[in-house]
Amino acid sequence: MSVTSTTSQNSLFDVIVIGSGIGGLVTATQLAAKGAKVLVLESYIIPGGSAGYFERQGYRFDVGASMIFGLGNRGTTNLLTRALQAVNTSVEAIADPVQIHYHLPNNLNLKVDRVYDNFLQNLAAHFPHEKEGIRRFYDECWQVFKCLNRMELLSLEEPRYLLRSFLQHPLACLGLLKYLPQNVGDIARRYIRDPELLKFIDIECYCWSVVPAAMTPMINAGMVFSDRHYGGVNYPKGGVGQIAQKLAEGLEKVGGQIRYQAKVAKIITEKYCAVGVQLTNGEIYRGKRIVSNATRWDTFEKLLPVDKIPSNEKKWQQNYKKSPSFLSLHMGVKESVLPQGTECHHIILEDWQNMTQPEGTLFVSIPTLLDPKLAPEGYHIIHAFTPHWMNDWQGLSVSDYEAKKEETAWRIIDRLEKIFPGLDTGLDYLEVGTPRTHRRFLGREDGTYGPIPRRKLRGLLSMPFNRTAIKGLYCVGDSTFPGQGLNAVAFSGFACAHRIAVDLGL
Ligand SMILES: Cc1cc2nc3c(=O)[nH]c(=O)nc-3n(C[C@H](O)[C@H](O)[C@H](O)COP(=O)(O)OP(=O)(O)OC[C@H]3O[C@@H](n4cnc5c(N)ncnc54)[C@H](O)[C@@H]3O)c2cc1C
Repeated sequence: MSVTSTTSQNSLFDVIVIGSGIGGLVTATQLAAKGAKVLVLESYIIPGGSAGYFERQGYRFDVGASMIFGLGNRGTTNLLTRALQAVNTSVEAIADPVQIHYHLPNNLNLKVDRVYDNFLQNLAAHFPHEKEGIRRFYDECWQVFKCLNRMELLSLEEPRYLLRSFLQHPLACLGLLKYLPQNVGDIARRYIRDPELLKFIDIECYCWSVVPAAMTPMINAGMVFSDRHYGGVNYPKGGVGQIAQKLAEGLEKVGGQIRYQAKVAKIITEKYCAVGVQLTNGEIYRGKRIVSNATRWDTFEKLLPVDKIPSNEKKWQQNYKKSPSFLSLHMGVKESVLPQGTECHHIILEDWQNMTQPEGTLFVSIPTLLDPKLAPEGYHIIHAFTPHWMNDWQGLSVSDYEAKKEETAWRIIDRLEKIFPGLDTGLDYLEVGTPRTHRRFLGREDGTYGPIPRRKLRGLLSMPFNRTAIKGLYCVGDSTFPGQGLNAVAFSGFACAHRIAVDLGL
């Protein structure tokens, strides 16, 4: 494909964002609200990426995320609320009283209550001999959160902001510096001895970081383990897709542009500086700054020549690898399937040995318990998903692929029957997504959930910020600091927009 194939739509943009995941949209809205001329190019038909949705037979399914942090109304860490506000919009947030109902080995059946003391009490009831250690561990997580929640969260690549933050909040900054290179496992082991309780801390981390506590950065854990009791877990009325929809609408209202079915085939560079993008249909758009919301693997191995991967990206790949993708079951079920008092989010694991194995940990979300309008009356949505590798789904004939989907789905439904008896007979709709589905619809290499450390690293120290080795090219989203999750990629978006605004003198 030649760079000269089709002329660009008349003018030069200040910023071109490749992809409308939450990371890309937050970057775009922040910059457009500051007056930048912004264009977002999205390969799919709607915005949101892993925070998107699809509709079938009266059901509105979340593609992925449904346990949403960052929609609170106080502090500085409610980044989704803030991002929406920046473009004069909001979503109605429905408070979830329980973050997760864990169904773990040895009858460790526990609900993580929104009220911190209730959670501690419930956990201590299972481990009375560790009551003090439990409190001290989770209290230390609060220290991290309190540091973060005191300051405006912007680009750590902007020296004047760093200085200003330090002068305004010296103790909070020093606190964060202390925790930046630390992992949860080391801190948990200072307070807790019981091996089963340490396994519980492992799954508390694994369920969002997809690695055990020893490899999970303390900064991220401080956010998750505390914010669930502060801003809380909230579900956006109308489905998770509302967040991206509202951001996209807000973007256009403040003068930004978004184009769908606009797949970027390559980032155009001149003298090792990113100057534009070319779509798969040949169209070219030029921008002063280019932001990639695609994963680092997609950005540096597909959108740029693979033989020219910058050395710091090679180094990053030595530290981080792709996490597995997911196998998702999107189900519509009769309401009779759900026992009285069922919570929205569940984690099911029968054997600790299997926690990190494919199909080991089973995640379940039932968003219709919070917003019944997402399903026809008398029905609910159950989204069950579990880690799976792309390799296990490749090289299959069409019939083998379908048969494997069917077989895997029923294996998972059998497991779910233990907490939702009668699921099989109450099933009204079933659609199975594999790693191939995630790759195809989310544009993510191997359908990966995101980067995970190859070995124990020093907390978040090796996670890159937004600038890249290629001048004018920035990355945003879950393969930049601070990692996966909607609120985390919103953080990355705020930081990216801040750095670009300074670079452009906005
Ligand atoms: C099954 C599942 C469950 C999850 N559950 C939760 C949860 O409960 N809570 C939570 O906080 N997080 C959850 N997550 C994680 C969260 O959804 C992601 O970390 C986050 O949405 C990633 O956002 P992003 O901005 O990095 O990019 P993405 O969501 O990956 O978006 C990137 C966008 O870029 C587009 N794109 C890519 N390449 C191109 C190209 N070449 N041209 C044009 N467009 C392109 C894609 O189409 C996509 O729209 C879950 C993820 C999954 C998969």
